[in-house]
Amino acid sequence: MKGVTLEELRQLALDSKASLWQKACSLNREVKLYLHWSAGHYGQFFDDYHINIDRDGSVYVSTEDLSAVLAHTWRRNTGSVGMALACCYGATTKDLGNEPPTAAQMEAMAQVISVLASVLGIPIDLQHVLTHGEAGDNMDGLDITEKYGMNSTCERWDIAILHTGDGWGSGGDILRGKAIWYQYHS
Ligand SMILES: [Zn+2]
Repeated sequence: MKGVTLEELRQLALDSKASLWQKACSLNREVKLYLHWSAGHYGQFFDDYHINIDRDGSVYVSTEDLSAVLAHTWRRNTGSVGMALACCYGATTKDLGNEPPTAAQMEAMAQVISVLASVLGIPIDLQHVLTHGEAGDNMDGLDITEKYGMNSTCERWDIAILHTGDGWGSGGDILRGKAIWYQYHS
């Protein structure tokens, strides 16, 4: 894992843009961003994601090629970027446990979304920027997999909520809203 600044991430996205779009277009898709949590510990990173974000908001990349096809989101890994908050070990849908997403992590993920969406030329909406919980239910309207997300089997519900007790499914909207705010204020 390599720590990067947002400016360095912007450059990596620029360098990967053509390849990401080529891969997405090969499947008649657009480039997408997928938002995860690791269900691991703070400070524990996984190379299934292009980008890992630690509890203090620091950002790490597992590869400098953001078009690399990694194993983050079932049947959606081609032409997409996967990012994860390093948190939520032992979380349940009722209680996010002792390592919930921190405020610094949420802000950092919103900034990462903002930078990537700008450089890659995609809008920050449910069709292009999805939590794993949303992607698992094909909430972008693409019929890619059997539903396994936050409103069906709940096998994957990453970021359905950001705090224990939040309205179910609010996490994606909160992060997209923050990311849009950063786009207008940067
Ligand atoms: Zn996930």
